Amino acid sequence: MPDLSGLVTLITGAGSGIGRASALHMAACGSAVMCADLDGEAAKDTAARIAEHGGASAALQLDVSSDEEVRYALTHTIATLGGLNVIFNNAGVGGGFGWDRTLAVNLTGVYNGLFHGAQMLSERGGGVIINTASVAGLVGLSGPASDPTLPVTEGAGAYTAAKHGVVGLTRQFAVTYGKRGVRVNAIAPGYIVTPMTEPMRSEETYESYITDLHPMGRLGQPEEVAAAVAFLASPEASFITGVVLPVDGGYTAR
Ligand code: NAP
Repeated sequence: MPDLSGLVTLITGAGSGIGRASALHMAACGSAVMCADLDGEAAKDTAARIAEHGGASAALQLDVSSDEEVRYALTHTIATLGGLNVIFNNAGVGGGFGWDRTLAVNLTGVYNGLFHGAQMLSERGGGVIINTASVAGLVGLSGPASDPTLPVTEGAGAYTAAKHGVVGLTRQFAVTYGKRGVRVNAIAPGYIVTPMTEPMRSEETYESYITDLHPMGRLGQPEEVAAAVAFLASPEASFITGVVLPVDGGYTAR
């Protein structure tokens, strides 16, 4: 496990799935964690689990699509946990929320964290930002041709556009902040077993279709994504910036 002791991390979407697994793992690696989520109770639950294991944590309700709320989350993290070293812009929704909301959360939400967070980290001597993209930030999504009642997920265009945007923002901010002490990277998960994918996993035809998209022949677990996030956050990744790291069981390898 990478050593994150002494660091303070802000994680959005920390009440569920990849965000929660990352909060628990990064805390186990020694970081204090501000758990932020639209679902404030779920964020509190993650923070409580960290505290149960002796870690430092706090919770905050926020909507990442609000510029003001993201700015507040950053300053509140410093005020509450005594610093800010790592920002994990992870909160997101599936494409079923329509174009405007999907773009507002999945793209503008990440931009808000980058725009305010990168400047703040650089003024404080440097830090790390990790964004959650997706395989849908690298390639288009497909659905099972064998069953025309299950086309590519509704809203796939909005989701794919937003995640491609996250890849672009990651590269742009890595370049802009390269000499200012802020590393900026993204992870690109394949299909992961979280509440977001539950509707697809509960439909047998769809589940076997999405499973077969991964050459490893299985879906990923949120803890496997969390391990990649902790690595990118750690000093072990000190010369890595501007990359989009697939955590996808080979999904984008073919
Ligand atoms: P999840 O289990 O649904 O968790 C997402 C969390 O983000 C939820 O707690 C959700 O709260 C919160 N959230 C939603 N909108 C928000 C907002 N506007 N502000 C703050 N928090 C908000 O999903 P997940 O699978 O862990 O997804 C996490 C990230 O990974 C997303 O960016 C997703 O696009 C990306 N991703 C997931 C997969 C996958 O297969 N699971 C693959 C590639 C990328 P509510 O529950 O209240 O909505």
